[in-house]
Amino acid sequence: MEIYLDANATTPVLPIARDAALAAMSLDFGNPSSTHSRGLQAKSLKESVRAMARRVLGAHTGQLLFVSGATEGIQTVILSALTSLKNRQNGSEPVSCLLYGATEHKAVPEALMHWNTILGLNLEVRAIPVGQDGRHDLDWLHQHVARAGLVCTMAANNETGVISDLPGIAKTIAHSDALWMVDGVQALGKLSLQLQDLPIDYAPFSGHKLYAPKGIGLLYIREDAPFTPLIVGGGQEGALRSGTENMTGIAALGAILSAIESHTVFHDTPTLNAYRSRLMAALRDAFDDVVFNVSQEVSLPTTINFSVPGVGSNVLLNLFDAAGVRVSGGSACGAAKAKPSYVLEAMGLPEWQIKSAIRMSFGPADTAAFIEEACVRILACGESLRRSGMFPGATEDAEAMNGLTRLVAEGACSYIFSDAGSKRCVVIDPRAELTAQLLQRLTSQQYTVAAILTTTPTDSDDSPSATLRAGLLPNLIQQHTVDTLGWPVDASEIAMGDCFISRVHLDEDKQRHLIYLVRGPKGMECALVGDTLDQTSSPSDFALRKLTGSLQPNTLLLPGHDHEGRLATTLAIESAAHPMLKEFVPANHRNTVCNIAGISKQSLELDVITASALIRDHGDALLLDVREAYEQCLSSPPDLSTNIQHMAAPLSQLPGMLPELLSQYADRPLIFFCRSGNRSEQAARALRQLGHPSAWSLAGGVALWNRHSVS
Ligand code: PLP
Repeated sequence: MEIYLDANATTPVLPIARDAALAAMSLDFGNPSSTHSRGLQAKSLKESVRAMARRVLGAHTGQLLFVSGATEGIQTVILSALTSLKNRQNGSEPVSCLLYGATEHKAVPEALMHWNTILGLNLEVRAIPVGQDGRHDLDWLHQHVARAGLVCTMAANNETGVISDLPGIAKTIAHSDALWMVDGVQALGKLSLQLQDLPIDYAPFSGHKLYAPKGIGLLYIREDAPFTPLIVGGGQEGALRSGTENMTGIAALGAILSAIESHTVFHDTPTLNAYRSRLMAALRDAFDDVVFNVSQEVSLPTTINFSVPGVGSNVLLNLFDAAGVRVSGGSACGAAKAKPSYVLEAMGLPEWQIKSAIRMSFGPADTAAFIEEACVRILACGESLRRSGMFPGATEDAEAMNGLTRLVAEGACSYIFSDAGSKRCVVIDPRAELTAQLLQRLTSQQYTVAAILTTTPTDSDDSPSATLRAGLLPNLIQQHTVDTLGWPVDASEIAMGDCFISRVHLDEDKQRHLIYLVRGPKGMECALVGDTLDQTSSPSDFALRKLTGSLQPNTLLLPGHDHEGRLATTLAIESAAHPMLKEFVPANHRNTVCNIAGISKQSLELDVITASALIRDHGDALLLDVREAYEQCLSSPPDLSTNIQHMAAPLSQLPGMLPELLSQYADRPLIFFCRSGNRSEQAARALRQLGHPSAWSLAGGVALWNRHSVS
C-alpha cells in the first residue's frame, strides 16, 4: 500500500467526487449554455455548486467564478488589479509598488512581473518579508502599503503550512487603497475561511488540492472590485470567464463542497491535530535529532516540514519513496527543479535545515488507520538509515562499510576508504559541505580513523579535517604525528585490508599538492587526484607531467569535484581537455575515448521493448541497483526477468566498483536502475565514457518499471 503524504501538491480524487464527475459525463452532460432541457439541467447543477461554494466560503455577494485552477485565478486577479491601476495612474494617487508575501506560490510573483511588463506599468514588485515563524512582517507592510496598488498574501503556505495572520494584515492595510488578494488554495477544507468577514478583494482556490480533479478552481471577486476578463469568447460565466464550463470538474467540486458543508468526510481540526502529533512522534522516534521547521501553533494541522541533521532532502526523499511513502522536498514545482526552498530561505532558516527539509502533508479525509501505517513506515525508514550505517544508533546487524565510499554535495567529493575486517578507515579530502555526514557515518560505524588525508594542505583550525578530528571521539582516531596533508610522518604507505594507499607529490617542495594511489591484490586500482584535473582549475604542466609519470593512461582517477557526475576519469579521457597530456597518451588509447557530453540520454536509456530485446539476446546481462543500501532494503528491484543476475551497486560505492565492472564485466550488458532514472543514467553514462560498450539505464526508474513487465 502506498502512503501518499504529499496532499499539498495534489490529492487523489475521492470516490464521491469521481462518482459526481462520472454522472456529469454520462447523465448530466449538457452544455449549461444550451436552452433545452439537457442544458438547463447542466446549468442547474452548475448554479447549485456555486451556491454551495458561496456558503462554504462565506462569499454571499460579489462574483464566484469557475476557473481552471488557482494559477488562472491568480492571473485574472493580477490582470484585473493592474488594469485598474493603469487607468488610475492617470490620476494623482502615488501608487508605485506591488507587494506579495515572500513565501507566496511562484504563480504570484511571476504573474505580477509578467502583467506589470505586458501592461507597461513598470511598478516596483516587492516581496513582503516574513519572520522566522513564516508570517508576514506587518511593520514592514505598514511602512510600504501606502504606496502599494495590490497586496498579495496567501491564507496558508503550501510548503510549511504556515497560516497567515489575515485579520492582522487586514488591519495593517485598512487605511490604504491597495487591493488585496488572498490565495486560499491551501486553506480550503482545512481552515474556516469566511471571505466576507475580511476586506478581501480577490481569492483564488483550486479543486485538486482537496480531492477534486485537476483543472477546476474557483475565483472570488468582491463586489465592486475591479475586474478584467482573462479569457473572452462565448460569454460564459456572465462573460467574465468565457469557454464552455468544465462540468465534470464542477460536479466533482460540488461533491467535495457538499462534504465540507455536511461535516461528513473531512475530519475536524482536533482530529487532524492529533494525526499530526502522531506523525511528529513517529518522526522523533525514527530520527532522534529531527527539527520541525515551523511551529504547530501557526501552521495547518495537515502539514509538517522537518529536517534531519546531516541527512540531505534527496537522501530522505529516496528513503521515504523506497518505503512507499510519498513526501516532497519542497513545493511540487520546486521539488522537480531540486532547488533549495525559497520559502525556508525567506524565513531565514540555517542552510543545513533548508538543505534537509522535507514536507509531509496529508489530507483532511485521511483515516486513523492510514496515519498509523504511515507511522510504521516512518519508523522503518529510521531503522533502515541506522542499519545502513549512515545514522547514529546503528543496530548489531548494521551494514559494515567496506572498500571505497564516495560522498558528494554540490559536486564536492569526499572519500572514505575502509576495511570492515579491521574496522579501520581513511578519509580523503573531507569537505566543509560533508563534514556532518562524514561524522555521522564514522560515528555510527565506530571505525577507527587511521588518517584524514587531503590533496592540498589544510592547516587552519577550522578546516574540514580539523572539524572532523575535533568531532570524533579520541578513541576513534588513530593518534600519530601527521604532516599538513594529514599523512602519518613515519609511514610510507597505509594498509587497508588487502589494499595499500601510497602517495605521489605533484610539486617540487613536496608539501603543496599530491595524489593518493590505491593498490589492490590485482594491481593499481585507482588514484584519488583531488582537483588536479578539475576543468575549472588549470593544473600546471609540471603536475600533469608528474601524473603521466606515475599513472597508466587508463588508470581510474577519482576527482575532488564532480559537477558533471562522471564518477571517474582517466588520463586518456583528459587528454582531450589538456592538450599537453596528448604527447604522453598513446594514440591507440586516445581513440577509445568517448566524450561524456556526446553521449545522449536516449542512447543510454532502455524502454520496455529495448530492454526485452537486450535481455533476450544477452543471457549474461547484469541488473545493477544503484540505489543506496537504505533504499534497497526497503523495496524490491523491478521484476525484469527471472534469470537476470542482480548486483547491488549503490552510487556511493560505484567509483570503487569501476575497476571490476570495466574488467570482469567488460563484455556483459550492464543495466542500471534507481528510483527515478537519474542516478542510473549517471552510472550508465560514466561507464560508457570509461569505455564500457553496453551500459544502460532503465528509463524512469523503479517508479515506472514496477508497472511494466519485460517479456
Ligand atoms: N497557490 C498555492 C498556495 C498552491 O499551493 C498552488 C499549487 O501548488 C497554486 C497556487 C497553484 O494552483 P493550481 O495548481 O490550481 O494552478
